[in-house]
Amino acid sequence: MDELDIFIGGQWRRGGGNLMHSQFPADGAINAALHAASLDDLQEAIDCADRAWREPTWRAMLPHQRAKILHKVADLIEAQLDELTQKQSRDNGKPLAEARGLVMSAAGTARYFAAACELLEGELPTPRQADLLTLSRYEPLGVVAAITPWNSPIASEMQKVAPAIAAGNAVILKPAEATPLMALELAKIFEQAGLPAGLLSVLPGKGSIIGDALARHPKVRKISFTGGTTTGRHLAHVAAEKLIPASLELGGKSPTIVLEDADIEQAARGICYGIFSSGGQACIAGSRLFVHDKVYPQLMARLLELTQGLRVGHPFSAGTHVGPLINDKHRQSVLEYVELAKREGGSVLCGGEIPADPALAAGSYFLPTIIEGLNNQARVCQEEIFGPVLVAMRFHDEAALIREANDSVFGLAAGIWTRDTGRALRLSEQLEAGTVWINTYKVFSISTPFGGFKESGLGREKGIQGLKAWMQQKSIYLATGN
Ligand code: ADP
Repeated sequence: MDELDIFIGGQWRRGGGNLMHSQFPADGAINAALHAASLDDLQEAIDCADRAWREPTWRAMLPHQRAKILHKVADLIEAQLDELTQKQSRDNGKPLAEARGLVMSAAGTARYFAAACELLEGELPTPRQADLLTLSRYEPLGVVAAITPWNSPIASEMQKVAPAIAAGNAVILKPAEATPLMALELAKIFEQAGLPAGLLSVLPGKGSIIGDALARHPKVRKISFTGGTTTGRHLAHVAAEKLIPASLELGGKSPTIVLEDADIEQAARGICYGIFSSGGQACIAGSRLFVHDKVYPQLMARLLELTQGLRVGHPFSAGTHVGPLINDKHRQSVLEYVELAKREGGSVLCGGEIPADPALAAGSYFLPTIIEGLNNQARVCQEEIFGPVLVAMRFHDEAALIREANDSVFGLAAGIWTRDTGRALRLSEQLEAGTVWINTYKVFSISTPFGGFKESGLGREKGIQGLKAWMQQKSIYLATGN
């Protein structure tokens, strides 16, 4: 099998670290082998990055020229849509339709930040003293770190790399151990699009070794991380020690609420998509369901029917709704949560096990699962499972509902299903969540800020603010009198 090179300071070469693999979760086949980056590789990438972002040609590059590179990146992604989709799917097992959506969103993100960097303006605040002009400029931070998880690689990687580059920084990207392929593809694409050497390096490797050393490196001036809350907390400590900004997009245990006047068909479909797409391996998965007593039987009957109709299958088969989980180890942890739910007194309404179909035996598949009979204090309602497991609960009192929905260390997202838009807006103000979806779920817009309340994160990505988050402001005072 061919071994992949990694991208260190503008050079493609074998990493100096351990041998690692990308594996297809559908059957365990090895997609690619590569050597992780070593600590020497990291040092070299950072030295190159530090030179590259200071280069006068890059610093003075006009916004429309920087934007041109990002547009070219988007063009190249679109031109290779099918190949990238396949690769994304092989790397983490997402069904092709979902993987395709992620690849297209990466192209859209590159275009958005191309436009955003052209539109970004400094400010001319009016001074509170005579004979003075003050300017406020946005400047890059320098060398920045992007550390990403395995669930939506190309989308989450572009969401960091595009604004970081648009802002004039040099980026060191450390993809998740399980999914190194897309980050390396992105490196090729940025290189082909004409990004000057050294401004992007991709260093696959273990989080606790290369990720940690990257975050701690004195030349790294920002950490942007998406992943688990434990690692996020660790990186927040590292950032605090160095006094650098950290942007952390962490876990979730998002509540979805069905009010008594909801369109039941629409709600059932939205809930099903919100938890079972990506096999529930999404920080925003709607994993806690609160249904009004009056509509509980009707909603649950339809939801069960839809869930049992989901096709669990090979990511490349047409019509597959739910692909495999990332690996067997993760599947085991999902299974243990289902066992825990049973011990806690929950009833499994569907799924809860590995599919019996022999055609799926080689992959890390797990059936979409609905559990009822628990309350919000159960561990399966408090801890992130990151799998296709939905816990359904009833409510009748709105104030108690809000208390329960907010009774979580997390605060990433929430969903509300109702025909009463005014009530939905009032409820959305009371929910402790960075994103609230009303009569929809898991839809995104690159211009709308995204991030978590509470232990779901710090900082926001996307939007103009998501570009400024990769910059620092400088104020200049100019005396206009004597
Ligand atoms: P997940 O639960 O999504 O695997 P992790 O937080 O473990 O979440 O991983 C997300 C990313 O963080 C991966 O790229 C991983 O390699 C990296 N990572 C894990 N531990 C550390 C660490 N101590 N320092 C820096 N990065 C880390």
